[in-house]
This record gives sequence, C-alpha cells and structure tokens, in this order.
Amino acid sequence: MQSGSHNAFETAQKQFDNAAGILGLDQATRDLLRTPMREYHFSIPVRMDDGSVQIFKGFRVQHNDSRGPGKGGIRFHPLETVDTVRALAMWMTWKCAVVDIPLGGAKGGVICDPHNLTPRETEQVCRGWVRQIARNVGPLLDVPAPDVMTNPQNMLWMLDEFEAIHGGKYPGFITGKPLGIGGSQGRTEATGYGVIYTLREALKEMKIDIATTVASVQGFGNVSQYAVDLYTKLGGKILSVSSWDNTEKKSFTFRKASGVKFDELKGITDPFGGISRAKAQEIGYEVLPGDAWIEQDVDILIPAAMEHQITKDNVPKISKRVKIIVEGANGPTTTEADELIKARGIFLIPDFLANAGGVTCSYFEQVQCNMNYFWEKEEVLSKLDTKMTAAFHAVHEMSKKRNVYMRDAAYLIAVSRVAQACRDRGWV
Ligand code: GLU
Repeated sequence: MQSGSHNAFETAQKQFDNAAGILGLDQATRDLLRTPMREYHFSIPVRMDDGSVQIFKGFRVQHNDSRGPGKGGIRFHPLETVDTVRALAMWMTWKCAVVDIPLGGAKGGVICDPHNLTPRETEQVCRGWVRQIARNVGPLLDVPAPDVMTNPQNMLWMLDEFEAIHGGKYPGFITGKPLGIGGSQGRTEATGYGVIYTLREALKEMKIDIATTVASVQGFGNVSQYAVDLYTKLGGKILSVSSWDNTEKKSFTFRKASGVKFDELKGITDPFGGISRAKAQEIGYEVLPGDAWIEQDVDILIPAAMEHQITKDNVPKISKRVKIIVEGANGPTTTEADELIKARGIFLIPDFLANAGGVTCSYFEQVQCNMNYFWEKEEVLSKLDTKMTAAFHAVHEMSKKRNVYMRDAAYLIAVSRVAQACRDRGWV
C-alpha cells in the first residue's frame, strides 16, 4: 500500500543499501539482492455474483531463493501496489534468513477489497490467482501463505486449485491451511506470539518485569490479536489498541484504563480486525482518533497494522516513557522516523525479526506435512519459542558487538547469510 509519499520498496532498498555498506558487499551481490529475481503481474477475471466480470490485478514477486524455495504471504488489499509487494518479498528473504530457516523470500498480492466480496467471489479470486501462477509456484519453488486480509479458508481454496491443475496432492504448496487439512497447530497464534517472545527477551535483557509494563498496539488483525493475548497472559497491561473501521474508512483507537482484554474484543471484531465501536463503548472502551495509539503514556508500542505508520510527524508524539518499539507489522516505520527513534535511544525490535514467528510456524507446517505427522500445539509453540528466542539473542549480541542499532544488526546477520548462499552457489 502506498502511504503518503512513502514507497515501501524504496524504504526496503535504503535499509538494504545501509546494511550492504556496513558489510562492504561487492557490487554484483548488491545488484543481485537489491531487486527481486523474478516477478509476475497478471489479470484475474472473476465472474461476480451479479453476472458481470471484474478483472483483478495480481502479483507474485520472488526476491531471492538462494537459501531455499521462496516463501511469503498473499495480501488482499484495495491499495496494494507492486512496489509494496517487492518490498515485502525482500523483507521475507531477510526474515527467513534471520531465523535461519531454509527458505527464500517472496510475496503476493491482489488489488481487491475483501470487505466487498461475497464468499463465492473471494473463492474465485483465490482460485484465479493460482490459475495465473500455478506453474511458477509450488512446494519446491515458492510457497505462499496468508497475510493481510487472507485466511486459512483462502489458502485451502488455493491449494485445491493448485492440486486440480497439477493432478495430485501437494500439501506443501501453501501454508496457513486449516487445521485438519494440513494446517499446523499454533499457526494462527504464531506471528503475534513470536512478537511477544522477542519482547519478553528484550525486557529480560533490560531487567524489566513484564508485569509492570503497559503497552499500546496499532491494529487488531491476526498479529495484534495474539500479541495482545500472550502479552496480557504474561502479566502486561494493554492500554489501547487501534482498528480500521471500514464503514468510516478510517481507524479508531480503543482505550480502557483497566486494560484491554483479548476475549472481550475478539467477540466484537469482524474477520478483518475491525472492532465494533458501538459494542466496544457498551463494554467500557473509550473511542479515540485512530492515531491516538501512538501518543499513549506507555512503556511499549507495538505497531501491528500496515507499513509506514510511524513517521517523522508522529515520532515527536511518542511519550518519553516509551522504552521499546516492537514491530509486529512489516515495514511500519519510515526511514526518517527510524533515525529519530534511534536518536531517542528507544530499543527497537525490527519487523523481520519480531514478526518472524508466522513464517517459522509455516516452516514447521511444511515439515509436518512432509512427514504426514502433526505435532501437538505445545510442541509447535515450544519449538517456535526456541527459534524466536535464539534469533532475538543473536541479533542483540550482534548489536552489542558492532555497536549498531537493532535493525542494522538484524540486517547484518540476514544479509550475510543470504549473500553467503549466493556466493556458495556460484551466483556472485
Ligand atoms: N505473511 C507472513 C509474514 O509476513 C507469514 C508468511 C509465511 O508464513 O510464509 O511473515
């Protein structure tokens, strides 16, 4: 999504160039890694319920597959752009590398608003996306997953279409599938829980008891919901969350002094993370403007909605009390805002580290599908915790050793792993 004057691909390239500079990468490696290796743009014709045909634009971008098949979600969003998909594909490459799973980076998108599609039309968009790209994706090539406004049912329709085209059962084609049809326990919770595993470790390093902390969260979609769930289970208090109101076409912040409760809000939230304002007010939530989430008097901010939400204009509104920003979303911080956050000494847990829990669990889903043996939820979550905790500490150690910002440290680890794979293959 293009937000104001910000272009996500430019943000991703600037971040990469900075890391390439610190690492002293040679020119060929820089040229290879700063753009996607392959990208597909296509039209998806869909017969709508009223009989008319609508053409949706779809994309799949494969940034780098030196460490394994491409991996990354598919977003359905009315403001999707190919540059955002390029940035997200690039961030997937670093994400898989930083948690050290044998996968590359890819991302897909469709310009559409699922709020306005019936289930049958959504199914046709899902099947149509696969029909256009079925020969260029697959378990050993590029493996899609859910992302913004896509869900396990969508993944199953996509799998079904892929299997019909290729004439076989290929559960490894896609992850985030429903439980019982190749899905993994814990996949729904994984991204949000992973965000909190990294936060928990950061708090331990800072010798702060999580039970004394207060946080404010942007968004109430899949990532945010399970971040709220685990953080409150560990004793933290969420003062506010924001959420997109699709009727008003703007977001609102929902604040409760006694603490936001996951169970309370989940029941009054639509499938796309939209909280009902009227119902929230009935159960004691104050409804504030959408950007109020960032101005709250809290210790921790968790942007878990879309890219480019923290800008040079709203960084000055961040309370002096804020010690940690954990990026649940992909690319929530602009380059200028990043500089200001760094200068203020706020501890940042960067996006492709903090939100790597989703793809890590997707990798576990692939492993389980390959074995055709599925683990209990405790086993999945404990393996996820081990991976996320190790990745956090590796990045934190790097940040201390090289005396660099956490984002730069994450880039140093991820980019050097990918560059090494490219060299080992003889590509550069
Ligand atoms: N869409 C998620 C992400 O941005 C998960 C991707 C996956 O599971 O492949 O990390």
